Amino acid sequence: MLIAALATLGLAMAITHHLASGRYQQELREQGRTTLRLYSEIINGWISRFRALAPIYAQNPEIISALRNPEDGVQLDLVNERLTRWTWQTGAADTYLLDQHGITIAASNWDQPISFVGNDYSFRPYFTMAMNGRLGQYFALGTSSGKRGYYFSYPVRDLQRTIGVVVVKVSIEQIEAELSSAQGEVFISDRSGVIVAAGRTDWRLRTLAPLDEDERAAIARSRQFDLDKLTAIPVSALTATAPEQGALVSQQSGADGALSYLHLSRVAPIPGWELHLLQPTRSTRSQILTATLLAGSAALAVILGAIVIWQRRRRLIEQLVERQAAQERLERAVTARTADLSASNAALAREVAERIQAETDLRQTQSELIQAAKLAALGQMSTSLSHEFNQPLGAIRAYAENGVAFLDRGNLDRTRENLNRIARLTDRMAQLSKHLNGFARKPRDTVEPVNLALTIEEALALVNARVEKAGTRLSVDCPADLMVMGGQIRLQHVLINLVSNAIDACEGTEQPQIAITATRQSAEGESRDANGAEERILLRVEDNGPGLSAQVLEKLFDPFFSTKETGKGLGLGLSISYNIVKDFGGHLWAENRMDGGARFSISLRQARPAQQPQPIGELS
Ligand code: ADP
Repeated sequence: MLIAALATLGLAMAITHHLASGRYQQELREQGRTTLRLYSEIINGWISRFRALAPIYAQNPEIISALRNPEDGVQLDLVNERLTRWTWQTGAADTYLLDQHGITIAASNWDQPISFVGNDYSFRPYFTMAMNGRLGQYFALGTSSGKRGYYFSYPVRDLQRTIGVVVVKVSIEQIEAELSSAQGEVFISDRSGVIVAAGRTDWRLRTLAPLDEDERAAIARSRQFDLDKLTAIPVSALTATAPEQGALVSQQSGADGALSYLHLSRVAPIPGWELHLLQPTRSTRSQILTATLLAGSAALAVILGAIVIWQRRRRLIEQLVERQAAQERLERAVTARTADLSASNAALAREVAERIQAETDLRQTQSELIQAAKLAALGQMSTSLSHEFNQPLGAIRAYAENGVAFLDRGNLDRTRENLNRIARLTDRMAQLSKHLNGFARKPRDTVEPVNLALTIEEALALVNARVEKAGTRLSVDCPADLMVMGGQIRLQHVLINLVSNAIDACEGTEQPQIAITATRQSAEGESRDANGAEERILLRVEDNGPGLSAQVLEKLFDPFFSTKETGKGLGLGLSISYNIVKDFGGHLWAENRMDGGARFSISLRQARPAQQPQPIGELS
């Protein structure tokens, strides 16, 4: 990561450095070429200004005349004057006239201490050039003045014959003043690599590179320059002409160390001269460095940005992974919990099924118990019931025998009367048998409106024989229209149980009494149902027996609790009755009467006229 970032940074900087170098060097080159072109034009202008002078002067009749008659002092004075004036007017350094041997016969500085007059310049190439009929152009160090000058020479002709040479010397310093104002180092070299003009004073009349022996000899011959001073300037690898693209050179400059330049050159408008420009690359280098550093900073910013983004992305991915893991954990936990829940659900469902089964079994057992208890009750009642049947049977027999006797006697009225009595007695027996049948039948387990008075009456029909046999006074007080929610046979069973128990309890009582009462309970408190629309019926069976001891009260409704001798009681009557009443949505409880004896109370729901039968399961 770090290596990649550093590599990217390095690459960005290297590329920028390369591109910036190319670009800035190109700019530097273009700038340099422009500078060179400008100086070339300046030099050209300067040269052009003076080049035409010598040919014009050569036409001057006074000049020609002075050369024709070099002994004519007046003429020479005139020429001297004229040359002085021309020199002053044109800005040239000196103007002078040589005879055909190269001796100066007149000069603009004729009256100066360094007058050229009388000097022999035949050795100067410009003299030779002009004597050969050409315009001479030559650069040299003045032998008398010691100043560098550019010489223009032209032959003075007299009837096709060259009789002398007119020379215009121009100071190179004018050019140098221009060169020194240049950006960078501008200088001019001649064919032999001598710097003939330079903006820098210490580079003037030195060489581009050390001169070889031949060059030195040639210079010595023409006395062009002072050989001793012709040392190379301290710029390495400087060539006479720079390559097209320019060349990088460096200058050893003492304390500053090396300075780098871009070397450019072009041909100067003076034959054999080369115009040079050394452009410092320092600013370019600093520009390149700035660009490279800028690129580096930008790349660094980009890299840092990328690192920040990358880290943020990594953190996001980590968070996502963590979130996903948490979700998976949650899903696993949910799955596990779901499995647990499903298992406990299944267990609950099993338990519910078991309970339903147990309840069904219980109900079955209960109904079997009821049946058994009913049969037991019948068994208990059997003696009185058989009496109930035997007594009318005996009467029927007597009526039949008497009927036969009356028939024999022809007493038809008495016979009819006896037969009617027999018929009434058989009706009564059939009625009793019907009650017994009904009671013995397995009851339905629906809860429906039942007429209470009728139910009491039918129950009593079955226990009547016992009541009578025991000599008990039984009273019933029940409004004929009272309707309760229950089952007729099951309610009969409850009443038979309660009345039978009362008969049993009153066994030792002198004047046994049983009272059955049914009343509408007050509309207050629990007598109303949730809608407040239904009244309850209170059915009571009271006796004047010994009542209920505290011990008996405690266990009264427990199954198989009995104080009766074996064979007389199963101890199921009250527990079954309690459950039957509960199934009706009612309540059975026992208490002692204030004036002795027991009281069993049953609270039942009163049936409304249109009330439909309900299965027991919907109650409670
Ligand atoms: P069983 O009649 O077979 O004993 P029950 O459940 O009907 O069974 O009665 C349980 C007991 O309650 C009786 O044995 C008796 O001791 C007592 N008992 C029931 N009714 C009365 C009553 N009217 N007076 C006094 N004791 C009673």
